[in-house]
Amino acid sequence: MELQIRKAMKRFFGYDEYKPGQEAVVKSILQGRDTVGVMPTGGGKSLCYQLPALLLPGLTLVISPLIALMKDQVDALNDQGVAASFINSSLEPDEVRFRLSQALRGRYKLLYVAPERLTSEHFNNFLNKISISLVAVDEAHCISQWGHDFRPSYLGIGTWIASLPKRPIVAAFTATATPKVREDIIHLLDLKDPQVFINSFDRPNLRWMLMKGVDRERFITRYLREHPEQPGIIYAATRKEVDSLFAELRARRFKVGKYHAGMSSDDRTRNQEAFIHDEVQVIVATNAFGLGIDKSNVRFVIHHNMPRHLEAYYQEAGRAGRDGQAADCILLYRAGDIHIQKYLIENGGLSPERKAVEHIKLQDMIDYCHTPGCLRAYILSYFGERDFKSECGNCSNCKDYAVRDITVEAQKIFSCVYRMKQQYGSSMVASVLKGSQQKRIYQLGFHELSTYGIMSDVATEDIIEMINLLAAEEYLTITAGKYPIVKLCPKAAPVLRGEKRVIVKFPQPPKSVGNESPVFRALRSLRQAIARQHSVPPYVVFPDSTLREMCERLPLDREEMLRITGVGEIKFERYGYQFLELIQKYVADPESIEDERGLAGKLFKKGVPGKKKNSIAGRKSSHLITWMQFQEGMSLDEISQERDLRLATIQEHLLQAVREGYEVDWDRLIPRHREEQVLRTARELGTNRLKPIKKALSAEIDYFTIRMVMEKNGIRPSQGSRAP
Ligand code: ADP
Ligand code: ZN
Repeated sequence: MELQIRKAMKRFFGYDEYKPGQEAVVKSILQGRDTVGVMPTGGGKSLCYQLPALLLPGLTLVISPLIALMKDQVDALNDQGVAASFINSSLEPDEVRFRLSQALRGRYKLLYVAPERLTSEHFNNFLNKISISLVAVDEAHCISQWGHDFRPSYLGIGTWIASLPKRPIVAAFTATATPKVREDIIHLLDLKDPQVFINSFDRPNLRWMLMKGVDRERFITRYLREHPEQPGIIYAATRKEVDSLFAELRARRFKVGKYHAGMSSDDRTRNQEAFIHDEVQVIVATNAFGLGIDKSNVRFVIHHNMPRHLEAYYQEAGRAGRDGQAADCILLYRAGDIHIQKYLIENGGLSPERKAVEHIKLQDMIDYCHTPGCLRAYILSYFGERDFKSECGNCSNCKDYAVRDITVEAQKIFSCVYRMKQQYGSSMVASVLKGSQQKRIYQLGFHELSTYGIMSDVATEDIIEMINLLAAEEYLTITAGKYPIVKLCPKAAPVLRGEKRVIVKFPQPPKSVGNESPVFRALRSLRQAIARQHSVPPYVVFPDSTLREMCERLPLDREEMLRITGVGEIKFERYGYQFLELIQKYVADPESIEDERGLAGKLFKKGVPGKKKNSIAGRKSSHLITWMQFQEGMSLDEISQERDLRLATIQEHLLQAVREGYEVDWDRLIPRHREEQVLRTARELGTNRLKPIKKALSAEIDYFTIRMVMEKNGIRPSQGSRAP
């Protein structure tokens, strides 16, 4: 059984290893036990029911509230060679009937449905005729009033399961469940003696950052400049903020999209697709965006405003780094956000009990923004975890901050606010401190204040940032409303009197997460070209993590490629050859991929080599077959023709065989007199780069000859060579 599970995992999903926590859940389900899997976003929940679904005899019904996600997941599954489908309200009734009849014939292993479907009589008639092995309830927190996304339709699932002719195995999954929500899931779904697996919520690859009192637009602009081409999401609280941030970023020539409920559904879809397909770098959105977005290579999520509760924050921020690679989650906090959230709670048409719950959750969120301790630890303890380090070393309260004593600046600001009678906003206060020549300042007589111009050596924006920071630390308060006013808080008094100092942590703006090599960029643009042709999102072709592993290991044949995590046989047959060819080309001449776009385009037009009938797929060690044929006397051209592989591939095979220590007849590979020539030139020019050597030699001497000479003489150019 063990072996069978692993085989299926490799074949259909391309994984050699489980992610933490997956194995226990998969095994529990396969033992027929009701199971609860609590895993953070990106933890790999889907595999936990998709893999058992393939191994169980009957159908697996997946209940999910996210219609958009269904299509994506089903597309991805079909792409991996798994028979799956979905039915939901986006389909015509004819299509639904067709899919149900296919299901009856046993054509699917997985069928995704929305919870509302369970009340349909037609659907239940169908269910009575079919054997259901497993019911997987996704987003199971929707069943609880204590969750952040309560959906009444979920309450019917328990009774519906009880009404089935034969009780299937029931498995429930969620990414965010506080202890209260977990109890609700077990109780309301009426799970029988369930095994509950709670995975750590920790996502070590996410760097949590809290930036207080920064000029948000300036911060975002700078961040985007420092992270070119990295996909990211910027969440803002309102449509208006989305619109204005979007306009501003576009004016600065960033590739941005936007998304909010006020846009037409066509517009929304277009923007969403552009983001998923890496056609825009960044999407600016309200929290309407993201449900059902399964993009794994999001490198940062910036919150322009504080969300209403940590569940929402964790879920939204958690859309970063689902591929396990480093990613940033940045919250740009301002005290003013509290007013917005309070207003939304008060005016959201909630029952008094719900309101009370929401206010408690909001306070927890505010506390997160003020904790001096580790941000990760705060989050983990909020979600009921016990076992974690008190300092993670990868958040802005543990690392990347500077401590500054700003007592003097604070005193200047406080006394200026006081002298302006606590009746003006932060930009006016900053202008006075700066000593601005604005007419209005003269009209109001502020140029005569003793605080006028006492911070003339500080940039106005920096003074404003400092005011915001002092507000975040509750020395000042900034009123809500159209014209926010800066006022003093009690905490400011002892500072003004010189009895207390103001010492603050300044988070340092984060540095770029990981540089991208030319190979990675080339692989990425190849992926994009393939994705466009197959009309799937790029990460469905291969996730970033898979491309990165390819960069590291530079696989040169089918077998090596299959060892890369995320490359299963089916995907390999579909896309693998093109990636293989790109890597081979890179290894042969690292400089050839400088013009990455052009190259990916060219490779792509040439189509898929080796996909014809006598494809090498399925056989072992392709390069050794080449080596044997060569040893039997065939020329490289003949081998290339017979095997229907390009000459470059055949050459690569031989190089590999040589590197692995297989004997070859050098004289047949290196033309007479050439060896001496190549060696001489190499000695003159150094062996780090092949290109100068190639240039200095006569045109008939190709890269292959140069590399063979080097191999023969035990010289490894440092660039483009592989570890043996
Ligand atoms: P969740 O639904 O829990 O947010 P997903 O099921 O979407 O997470 O999986 C997150 C990412 O992890 C996906 O990119 C998926 O391909 C990848 N993944 C899942 N299981 C494994 C595994 N065993 N090995 C490597 N990658 C995996
Ligand atoms: Zn920390």
